[in-house]
Amino acid sequence: MSLVIGVTGGIGSGKSTVADLFAAKGIDVIDADIIARQVVEPGTPGLNAIEKKFGRSMLTSEGALNRSALRAHVFSHPEDKAWLNALLHPKIREAMIEQTQQSTTPYCLLVVPLLVENGLQSLCQRVLVVDVSENTQIKRTGLRDNSSVEQVKNILNAQASRTERLAIADDIVNNDGDDKELIPQIDALHAQYLQLAAP
Ligand code: ADP
Repeated sequence: MSLVIGVTGGIGSGKSTVADLFAAKGIDVIDADIIARQVVEPGTPGLNAIEKKFGRSMLTSEGALNRSALRAHVFSHPEDKAWLNALLHPKIREAMIEQTQQSTTPYCLLVVPLLVENGLQSLCQRVLVVDVSENTQIKRTGLRDNSSVEQVKNILNAQASRTERLAIADDIVNNDGDDKELIPQIDALHAQYLQLAAP
């Protein structure tokens, strides 16, 4: 079983960019966003339960989850949002544990945007925080998602603060510089994790 390194950071901090650099070294990357989609794929107990509770209107004509319909519905129905979280969070957690256990690399990354918010630190042995200033987050997220300063600020306010995230960090990557500045930081962490993972 691999050493599990949790990777977190706010929106646009560079989690995917950092994870790609570890993946290029052959390290397994498990992504919470992908798992969150897997647990509601057609034919899963997750999607079946959603259809049973809310009806066909939450599915697309192809039978997949209609994400925007579900998002709009739970936005205005907090009790249904709580129901949905109670349904999906345990499934996501189970899948994360299963996938980290299946990893065959000396260590693996578990990338979880809302690690702090959802208290998922217990699934990893160490937490690596990708840290940037709010200005960098706003600028890069705006460029990537074509979103306004206002929209990014709203998302930032709904997420854990930079301070809350740094409080649980074992390791920190600073990503305010250009992407070349990530390389030596990732190289050093890779060496450190290999050493920690050594029998
Ligand atoms: P996250 O996964 O944390 O949301 P991403 O890795 O997608 O963040 O990075 C957000 C955006 O910023 C992407 O478009 C990415 O290409 C870009 N980016 C990430 N790191 C840097 C950097 N050091 N310099 C310039 N652009 C960057």
